[in-house]
Amino acid sequence: MFDPDLQSIVSLPLQVPLQEQVDDDPRPSREQAEAAVRTLIRWAGDSPLREGLRDTPARVVRAYEEWFAGYACNPARILGRRFERAGYDDIVLLRDIPVRSVCEHHMAAIEGVAHVAYLPGERVVGISKLARLVDAYARRLQIQERLTSEIATTLQRELQPRGVAVVIRASHGCMTTRGVSIHGTTMITRSLLGECAVEPYRQEILAALSA
Ligand SMILES: [Zn+2]
Repeated sequence: MFDPDLQSIVSLPLQVPLQEQVDDDPRPSREQAEAAVRTLIRWAGDSPLREGLRDTPARVVRAYEEWFAGYACNPARILGRRFERAGYDDIVLLRDIPVRSVCEHHMAAIEGVAHVAYLPGERVVGISKLARLVDAYARRLQIQERLTSEIATTLQRELQPRGVAVVIRASHGCMTTRGVSIHGTTMITRSLLGECAVEPYRQEILAALSA
């Protein structure tokens, strides 16, 4: 399914930490956020005073707290608790981690799965931490390419394994519901680092991640 001759994605720089972004521009209040939703309802052509829409701004703002919970997560801290690899030195691979994200160009849903693999160095992490790492970066405004490389480079930097591989397959609401409206299309991105980027592991990992 994957062409092993394709180049891996070049790692993109990590996002600017939220702290730096908001220094001159304080976070709006909940009331301001709800007012912005009322504006968008009017822009859509409906009335925020209509019975069925009256509580919608408050619900949308609460939903945003879940959809963008990643900004409050420190991905490095998620990987803070590590264990001895106890003699195990082959690949650790977690497949089909749900990805729920929001595209930063249209604020439309990105839905798909991530497969995360690494070749242990001295330490391993609990597998649930890999899923939490995906979630911490997914629950932000994203593009799939950066989401992929952020997961890979953070795992590489914090755990210092011999190699990392991340593959994400996702569909984008902005593509399936608007513009050219191509239904059923998915986008695949991947980032291979260290020994995962070279043979003999590269071929084997890409086969395992695409099966
Ligand atoms: Zn988009």
